[in-house]
Amino acid sequence: MAAINRLSRKELTAEEVYTFPVRLCDDIVDRDNEKFHPDTLKELATLFLGKPFLFDHIWAASKQTARIYATRVETEGSVTCLISDVYMLRLSGNEDLIAMIDGGILKEVSVGCAVGKATCSICGKAFWECDHRRGGVYEGKTCHVILSEAKDAYEASFVAVPAQPAAGVQKSAEMSNMSINDVEAAKARLAIEKLRFGG
Ligand SMILES: [Zn+2]
Repeated sequence: MAAINRLSRKELTAEEVYTFPVRLCDDIVDRDNEKFHPDTLKELATLFLGKPFLFDHIWAASKQTARIYATRVETEGSVTCLISDVYMLRLSGNEDLIAMIDGGILKEVSVGCAVGKATCSICGKAFWECDHRRGGVYEGKTCHVILSEAKDAYEASFVAVPAQPAAGVQKSAEMSNMSINDVEAAKARLAIEKLRFGG
């Protein structure tokens, strides 16, 4: 509760909040042929602390907003993943939402963040400096982009499955044009969150 109360304006009791763990992202190559460097997940763990957790495309009411109050990097076999603990207020009208989280219906997560470096997995150069194509196969190896040097984290959100084809990790690397629109949209949503919470 101490971690939650550092973020809330008034002192909350355990009865007033509902908490749940969410796997935000990991170092597995995703559907965009990108993956985070494991060290970057540690940087993101710090950056995501206190950031909003949203329920996009499902509810728009202000009371269905949640916040990340704890993060940790865990290893599952050969996979490194970033896990967050999220809290929301137990307000009337949230019962269905809580049941959907508990029932595992809400689990596809989209995260908005920015990284400073994107490296080609084939040659090790900055991705925009080489001719390798993401998803292309070179001598039996599939080219992917390794994202590192986390700069900022904006928000994370459950997304309805399969309403959003690009569900998953939204990222941007400076000096490249990857998903910049997604990150700008995330920044705009974060600005709204700041107005709402005064944070
Ligand atoms: Zn390359």
